[in-house]
This record gives sequence, C-alpha cells and structure tokens, in this order.
Amino acid sequence: MSFDQLEAALEERRSAHLYRRRRLLQSPQGPEVVVDGVAGLAFCSNDYLGLANHPALQRAMIEGVERFGVGGGASHLVMGHTTAHHALEEALAEWTGRPRALLFSTGYMANMGSINALLDKQDAVFEDRLNHASLLDGGLLSGARFQRYLHNDVDSLTQRLGRTDARRKLVVTDGVFSMDGDIADLPGLSAATREAGGWLMVDDAHGFGCLGQQGGGCVEHFGLGIDEVPVLMGTLGKAFGTAGAFVAGSETLIETLIQFARSYIYTTSMPPAVAWATLASLKLVREESWRRDKLNQLIAQFRRGAAELGFELMDSPTPIQPIVIGEADQALGISQALEQQGIYVTAIRPPTVPVGSSRLRVTLTATHSEEQVNRLLEALNQARGALSHGAISQGATSQGARS
Ligand SMILES: *Cc1c(COP(=O)(O)O)cnc(C)c1O
Repeated sequence: MSFDQLEAALEERRSAHLYRRRRLLQSPQGPEVVVDGVAGLAFCSNDYLGLANHPALQRAMIEGVERFGVGGGASHLVMGHTTAHHALEEALAEWTGRPRALLFSTGYMANMGSINALLDKQDAVFEDRLNHASLLDGGLLSGARFQRYLHNDVDSLTQRLGRTDARRKLVVTDGVFSMDGDIADLPGLSAATREAGGWLMVDDAHGFGCLGQQGGGCVEHFGLGIDEVPVLMGTLGKAFGTAGAFVAGSETLIETLIQFARSYIYTTSMPPAVAWATLASLKLVREESWRRDKLNQLIAQFRRGAAELGFELMDSPTPIQPIVIGEADQALGISQALEQQGIYVTAIRPPTVPVGSSRLRVTLTATHSEEQVNRLLEALNQARGALSHGAISQGATSQGARS
C-alpha cells in the first residue's frame, strides 16, 4: 500500500491555503526574536507576562536540576512524584482557593484526562462551540452524549440542559477564548449549570496570569468560588512561562482524577525542575501586578490605534486581539506582508477557526513597549494597503506558512 492517498490529502490542504509549516525560532521567546535567520518583532506568543525567559525562572530551573536531576523518571503513581511537584500543587491550591490541585504534563492531557475521568456513556457533556480542541476531543473520547451550544450563549446552554436525562452533566468552557480573546459569561453559565444539577469545568489557559488582581484569572475576575466552578483548569506554558497544567478542585475531584484520569496515570511526571521553576513563576505572577497593568495599557493602546485605522476588532479585553480577515489566503497574505516589514503575526485558519473567519491573531505581552505596538500598527496599515493592491496574494499562495 502506498502513501498516495495521504499525498492527495496534503495536496488538498495546500490548494485550500490551509497547509501548515513550522517556523524555526532561533532565539528565546520575547518581543524580539530571530526566526529562520531573520530578526523581527513578534506578536504571536502566549508568553503574556514575559516570563518564559525571565532570569528568576532560569535560575530556579537550574537549581531544580541540581536538586532533582533532569527526568521525572516514572509516573506520579509509581516513583515520579517529587517534592517539587508536590510543593507546586500545594501552592496552586492555595492560590486558586481550592482544597487541592493536581499537575498534568500538558494542558491537552489535563483536559482529555479530566473529562474522561468524570464521564462515560451514561452522561452528557455540553461544550461552547468555540472551545479549545483539547476540550472538544476530551468530550468526544468520553463517549458521553456530546452537545455544542452557541458561543457564550447561556440560553442556548439552558435549552440543551433542559432536554437531557443524563446521569451526570458536565458543562465545559474556555475562560478566555483562545482564538477570540473574549471572556466567558461564567456567572451566567455557572447559574444555568447549577440550576440543572450539573458541574461547570473552566479551562482558563489564557486568563490565569492576565486577569484578576493576583492573576487568578476569570474566577478571580468574577469572584467565583468552588461551588460556582467546581472544575478549574489552568496551563503553565502561557502566562506562567514554563510548561504543564493543573486542575484545581475538591478533595473528591482530585482523588477521582488520580484514580481514573488515564493521561495522568499512564505518563511520566513532568521534569521536576519545571515544577520548581513554576513555583518561582507563580510568585512573579501573584506579586508583580505591574505586568498586568502594563499589559492592559498596551491592550488599550493597540485597540485605540487599530480602531483609528479602521480595523474591525473583536470584543476582547485580553492580550488576544484578533483581526478577522475572512479568507485563508488573504489572512496569509497580510501575515506575509507584515513579515516583510519585520513583524511576525500568525494567520490562524480553519480548522482552528470556523471557515470564513481566518484571522491575524495578534497577542501582546508585558514585555512589549509602546513604541513596538506603534510599529505593529503602522505595519498593519501598510500590509492592508499592499493586499488591496494585489501585490502580495501570489506570495501567499506559494509560501503559505503557519498555523
Ligand atoms: C494552549 C491551550 C491548551 C493546551 O495546553 P498545553 O499545555 O499547551 O497542552 C488547552 N486549552 C486551551 C484553551 C489552550 O489555549
């Protein structure tokens, strides 16, 4: 059997301008990067607080290696659960105001594992239609009756909850939507879920660190406790600048995950030095609120400037500031025109976002400067001009890059 069928699928993706190519990052993460040998200014990382290359985290990681070695060596349930992991779990529980927290190696695994530990085919899962792929995949794999409700729409959820006779009902939402930047109506979703006797699970990968006085994310922003959001998930590879993820909740929830979450049980623990570095990161996330203030200033500056230029922005108060373009080739074209001016902004295309809503996903970080945001705005203005004069669509077709 040959791979011709696979070649055909690749070709189809290429001709739809949906082909992905990886860029080679040759510098640490930060506003100024070197990509494929070219220095430029990046607006596409999730390193929102600028911690991924912070000296305090570098030192903590090195100290972690000296104390705990490099590899986790075994799964948490065998012999891989170190004092570094344990200390981080306790700190995350305290910070989130939950009795316990459990570390996972990645956010993808946390979502797959948690949803599958909580549900089986007697149950139902309700997901926002714009949820992150890992939440959708987790729901589908669980075998529970799977329903999507309209984006951030409490009525749409309520109707669906009213029609189910499932044993357990799990409502799952992003806290901050990863490709749109808007914040879920957690008070409304929580009330509807509790009314129906269900549980609300919030994945706050993009809210933790950015929202709330202490960076406690959407739940701190809205002041919601464990009764309102019993399953709270966060990732450590974004604002925390390290890697991994956690779920926080009750004693019963965490024990259930330890017993039944397969992506927790059947995998090696994250390198303990990563947990150690994340402890240092949590301290900065909590204490250095100037990073959030700075971020909010840059967000306001970008939104003002983009609106003045006539760009249509989404309803996003977060560092995720997408500019919806529409067709995939056009989004790629603008991304490429920006790159010619030394600015990296990723074009996000289907299936990551719905067909016809390809966009430039601009992300801001606390380490950008005002001057850099002004450079981005100028470059956007120029790139749009180049596109409307048809100067760049050809290049986009032949070299289409990125996710
Ligand atoms: C990034 C992301 C994840 C996955 O987290 P990783 O640690 O990168 O695997 C899960 N959910 C959302 C909403 C995300 O944005």
